Amino acid sequence: MTPVLADRIATVRDRIATAARRADRNPDAITLVVVTKTHSPETVRAAIAAGATNLGENRVQEASAKIEALADLRASVRWHLIGHLQRNKARLASELFDIVHSVDSLRLAETLSRQLADRRLSVLLQVNVSGEQSKEGFDLAGGLQNNAALNTFLADVEAVLALPYLEVRGLMTIAPLSAHPEQARPSFRALRLLRDELARRFPMASWDELSMGMTDDFEVAIEEGATVVRVGRAIFGERG
Ligand SMILES: *Cc1c(COP(=O)(O)O)cnc(C)c1O
Repeated sequence: MTPVLADRIATVRDRIATAARRADRNPDAITLVVVTKTHSPETVRAAIAAGATNLGENRVQEASAKIEALADLRASVRWHLIGHLQRNKARLASELFDIVHSVDSLRLAETLSRQLADRRLSVLLQVNVSGEQSKEGFDLAGGLQNNAALNTFLADVEAVLALPYLEVRGLMTIAPLSAHPEQARPSFRALRLLRDELARRFPMASWDELSMGMTDDFEVAIEEGATVVRVGRAIFGERG
């Protein structure tokens, strides 16, 4: 399995590099998170042997068993939580993951910070810039033009930044599902513009990371400034 996965990972890395060059960006500035949700520890082990170093899971329980089964490799990989986090799993998540992409409310941020006590955890703030009802995230449909939503969000961000144990590193979004990657572009652009605004208003924090783009749209995301892309199906095939 490892040679096939190595091939697919190499192909995705080539596509990342091509998209980066098209946008006049350094390909090394883009991190590939290999999304391993639904796949067995054996498959993930093969992916790590094939060169995957950043791994993404969307459920704490599922990830917990997998991370334990791969404990011998723990020091050579980084685990990313990319799915919605329930507050009652905040402590476990903070113990398992190197970074949480899915901090989607002030309450969750507060709970995480409280559980951390004296450790620090890297997080991204997940923002819903598309207005889709089904999407988790701080609600910012309409982007910077939506003044009421923006002001609410800015107040929340200020409160998150005041929490002692969270290291905010940037933003994450999930674009609306669509057959056409171009349709994701406005969401990605909105997230970048929002990040630029946050960097202006809260220069004491770090806003470097933009986690956006999946199998169907990661090249468009890179053109719009993604520093982290989360790719599953292009590497493992369709999920069963
Ligand atoms: C599943 C998932 C991905 C990967 O999606 P693919 O289409 O398999 O590349 C990325 N981000 C999140 C939040 C996911 O849940």
